Amino acid sequence: MERDNCIFCKIANGEIPSSTIYEDEDFRVFLDLSPATRGHALIVPKRHFADLFELDDELAQKAIVLAKRLAGHMKQALGCAGFNLVQNNGEAAGQTVFHFHLHLIPRYEMDEAGITWNPGTVSPEELQELVSLLSES
Ligand code: AMP
Ligand code: ZN
Repeated sequence: MERDNCIFCKIANGEIPSSTIYEDEDFRVFLDLSPATRGHALIVPKRHFADLFELDDELAQKAIVLAKRLAGHMKQALGCAGFNLVQNNGEAAGQTVFHFHLHLIPRYEMDEAGITWNPGTVSPEELQELVSLLSES
């Protein structure tokens, strides 16, 4: 999606109102309108990057440090039992808004957020093949 038509560009830069819980020169953090759980929020950079692959390295570092700080604050304030950071890239991975964002998802005992996957299997040969394919020299 182009910057001009990007809803998260508009929200992050204050052109569209949002339930903002944190803002600085680089990011806006606002509550998700279809929350997985109580307090589900999104860390969104003010500059447009479609996804993790495009994201500026310095902002990537800042985003994870901010996530750590806000998760600690949210855990205190909400009394949640656990916490997920979720970040989707590409339609196949469930991304629906094509402006990088990091989900902050507080978790509660017995909540029904259902953030999981079906554990698969892998053979020793496939593990070896993957190590060869993925190892950086
Ligand atoms: P993803 O599927 O990872 O791209 O996540 C997009 C998230 O943005 C979803 O959880 C949506 O509920 C949320 N979302 C979409 N539009 C808005 C909006 N205008 N305000 C707040 N959250 C939104
Ligand atoms: Zn954007």
